[in-house]
Amino acid sequence: MVIAIDGPAGTGKSTVARAVAERLGFTYLDTGAMYRAVALAAQQSGEPPAEAAARMDLQLGDRVILDGRDVTDAIRTPEVTAATSKVAADPDVRAALVKQQQAIMATGDWVAEGRDIGTVVAPDAEVKVFLTAAPEERARRRAEQTGGDYATILADQAERDERDSSANRSIFEAPDDATPVDTTELSLDQVIEQIATLVTEAKEVGA
Ligand code: C5P
Repeated sequence: MVIAIDGPAGTGKSTVARAVAERLGFTYLDTGAMYRAVALAAQQSGEPPAEAAARMDLQLGDRVILDGRDVTDAIRTPEVTAATSKVAADPDVRAALVKQQQAIMATGDWVAEGRDIGTVVAPDAEVKVFLTAAPEERARRRAEQTGGDYATILADQAERDERDSSANRSIFEAPDDATPVDTTELSLDQVIEQIATLVTEAKEVGA
C-alpha cells in the first residue's frame, strides 16, 4: 500500500509522514530530501543538476548519505533550500527522481511525502492526503523548529511557494482525489488519527 502525503513546506508533512509510517509499520520516503541532495551535489560538483540526479548514489534513512558522505544537515541549510526549489523546476531532474521514487516504492508499504506523489509519482496510491496550513502558522512552526527569524522565514517561504507553484509545473496542486487536511488548528495526534482512519477505510474498500 502507498500513502501519498503532499502539500507545501511547513504544513507538517515530514512529522506527519514519519509518525504515520511508524504507527502503521510502513517505510517512510522523503522525496524532498532527494531534490535537496541533487541541489547539493550540483552545487558542490558544478555538474548540471539533471546529471547529478541521474548519477548520484543516495541512501535515505535516519541519515541521508550522498556518495558516501553524511549530508543530513548539509541539505537543510537555507542556501541549499533555496537552490532546491530551482533545481526542482528542471523537468529532467524531475523525470530522473520520479523514476527512482517509483522504483523504490515498487514493492512494500510506503508513506511517501512530497509535492507530486499523489499526482505524478504514485497516482494509484490507495490513500492520498493534501496537507495545508495558514502561511503564518507554517512560518511560525518553522521558526520554532529552527530558531530562525519569523519575518525572514515568512518572506523566504512566500518566495519558495511562488517558485514551487510557477508556470508549467503542477507540483503545488492537490490531486483531485486527495483528502485535504488543514493542519492550522490540529494537533499532530489529530492529523495522524485522521490519516489512520483513511487507511482503515481504504483497506475496507480494497478487501
Ligand atoms: O519537502 P522539502 O521542503 O524538503 O522539499 C524541498 C523542495 O524540493 C521543495 O521546496 C520543492 O521545490 C522540491 N520538491 C519537489 N517535489 C517533491 C518534493 C520536493 O519539487 N516531491
